[in-house]
Amino acid sequence: MSAELDHAQRRSSSEADPGMVLTPPGSPVTSRVAGKSYRNDRQEIPYLPAKSDPMPITPPASPQKTKSLKGDEIGKENTLGSSTIGLLKHQLDVPNRRCGATTQKGEPCQMSVSGKMAGFHELSNSMANMPLSSQQMENKLNELVSLTLCKTHQNRTSCRLAKVLNSFPIGSDINRASSSVTTRIKHVVPEVSITCFADKQNSISCIERIGGGNVQTTRRVVNKITEAEVYSNDARLQECLELLEKLIFCSLHGEKERTTHVRTWTSEIQAIRSPIMPISTAPAVTKFAFSLQSSQDDVSCLTNIKKGCDYSSFIVVDQKPPNYIKKIRTALRLKSPLEGHVYVYEVQGNPEFVKVGYTSKTVQERIETIGFRCNRKVKEIYPVTMDRDNKIKSPELVEALCHAQLRNSQVTINCDACLGKHYEWFRVSPTEAIDAIQKWSSWMKKVAATSTWREKLAGKVKVNEFQDLGKLLKELEGEIL
Ligand SMILES: [Zn+2]
Ligand SMILES: [Zn+2]
Ligand SMILES: [Zn+2]
Repeated sequence: MSAELDHAQRRSSSEADPGMVLTPPGSPVTSRVAGKSYRNDRQEIPYLPAKSDPMPITPPASPQKTKSLKGDEIGKENTLGSSTIGLLKHQLDVPNRRCGATTQKGEPCQMSVSGKMAGFHELSNSMANMPLSSQQMENKLNELVSLTLCKTHQNRTSCRLAKVLNSFPIGSDINRASSSVTTRIKHVVPEVSITCFADKQNSISCIERIGGGNVQTTRRVVNKITEAEVYSNDARLQECLELLEKLIFCSLHGEKERTTHVRTWTSEIQAIRSPIMPISTAPAVTKFAFSLQSSQDDVSCLTNIKKGCDYSSFIVVDQKPPNYIKKIRTALRLKSPLEGHVYVYEVQGNPEFVKVGYTSKTVQERIETIGFRCNRKVKEIYPVTMDRDNKIKSPELVEALCHAQLRNSQVTINCDACLGKHYEWFRVSPTEAIDAIQKWSSWMKKVAATSTWREKLAGKVKVNEFQDLGKLLKELEGEIL
């Protein structure tokens, strides 16, 4: 929807005499005599794509809005009604009973959801009499959407729900619960992502990372925007959206990309909030007043959103440990990199854990990358600076062997800065980790003295593939005795 159109509509609705019946030109004539009969009318106004119905389902900026605003004042006890449920079911329809989600490649998910269809119909029918003001509305809607999604996607309801809600006219019954405003606003602003927002809509989008600090701040700003005191206040909203736009681009994009987004997001959010929010008749003037105010005494909006290193405790998750034998086998097959480092570091705030990893680049480079991606203050432990020139052979194999040796202390960590899981953390002392690295590094040096060492070790690992890992490590160690 365009900002101008929205503005015009809001002005017309707020300038109008409250007793006056607004009938925008060209809209279908509906009889509205008294509050009660109007409410009944509202139930009858079908958003269903019936052939006889000249009213389009979209765009959201249909003249429905003005009337709904009035309906909002009158029909507080309204229920969803069967016609809305009908359209809801139509919008949520999953052809061939396949999951309604889109895969990361942008293709429709092919998983069957036929087992959930009975539950879907039952739940949707039971929602027809649900009061619109019900706190449960959002939960029920989410539950309903999850019944159209496969096991993998069933927790990702918000995107699909937002799309469905957006297909209903603004101000329609279903959109009037303020909780669904949150969902819809989240759909307007960019999703939290680790990569640059430039050309996100195109297939060739920028793959540069924006950094863990920006990712975490983006999440906080988006949450802030969904708070009523922010999205209903033009100045605060603007402030948050401008910050958001600064956060989501890589260093290559940025200035030239930041042009129209804030304006677009603002008008879309204003359109979403307008049916339930008191709207100012002179946005330009109030905006200025608000800005002044926000820069002086009302700095509450963004002051607690500060970008900084993440010192929080790790989120340790229960996860099956990696298959170490497979990792050893893969490392034996890899012929490059031939040399590199196996390193140990910890991060500030989590002294009980160490990370053991390998790199074929310099340790410094690796640590800088990690600090940027995961937004952590990294404390290097090993190798010490003077050893950095001494590369070791087959670092990936040494790393795999160290991980296997420390397997009982392995933890999996959910990282909300790089949105990934980290498997290479161990609840051991730095000394224990260093001992393992030194042991397997010097082992490697001796083993690699023969030219056929890879084949020889690969044979051993293959034979022991399904055996005890501890036994395998002992056998490999024995190779140099
Ligand atoms: Zn799916
Ligand atoms: Zn970029
Ligand atoms: Zn991370």
